[in-house]
Amino acid sequence: MNINSRFSRSITAFLLLLAGGVLISFAMTDQPSAPKPSDVNVSECATACGLPSHVDLSGDRYSVLRTDAEWKERLTDLQYHVARQQGTERAFANPYHDNKTTGLYRCVGCDTPLFSSTDKFDSGTGWPSFTNPIDARTLGETHDNSYGMTRVEVHCAVCGSHQGHVFPDGPEPSGLRYCINSASLSFEATTSAQAVKDLVEDWYRAAE
Ligand SMILES: [Zn+2]
Repeated sequence: MNINSRFSRSITAFLLLLAGGVLISFAMTDQPSAPKPSDVNVSECATACGLPSHVDLSGDRYSVLRTDAEWKERLTDLQYHVARQQGTERAFANPYHDNKTTGLYRCVGCDTPLFSSTDKFDSGTGWPSFTNPIDARTLGETHDNSYGMTRVEVHCAVCGSHQGHVFPDGPEPSGLRYCINSASLSFEATTSAQAVKDLVEDWYRAAE
């Protein structure tokens, strides 16, 4: 093999690598909305653990009840309007729509862990969007026929605070898009997905 053919082989190998890299980055940008897979299942406790002692989802009353004055004391005007009066905050002008920090999203009304950053994806809608709740038991659904549309409203099943809506156009594997108001959430940043899981388990273990 002479130097020229070795050189042209190196060039060919380099070009193939480059083409491969371009293809891979195209494939990745093709699905910008899917959350990055995490090997930590933050919802494990949601099915394996009992509910905390203050939570009973079997009755027709919410486990956490507050008077209107108590809600107003606990929440800002915007949080009260969204969470307690079924309001909707403005798209993009809210704190968590573009939040990429690892952490736990709790209900603003009662601190129940509802969503994890590991299920968050960029939907481009301007509202925080998730593919799954942490526990389907603690996120209630109501069919909402307002504004001439049939939508599925979601709320905290522990205190009734309105969270947003769920639509059947999310990324796989769930195919769901939970479109949630930042005003209905409080965010706790963590250093890792494992730390999110630990916070979730702390909440459930309050039952034991
Ligand atoms: Zn709640």
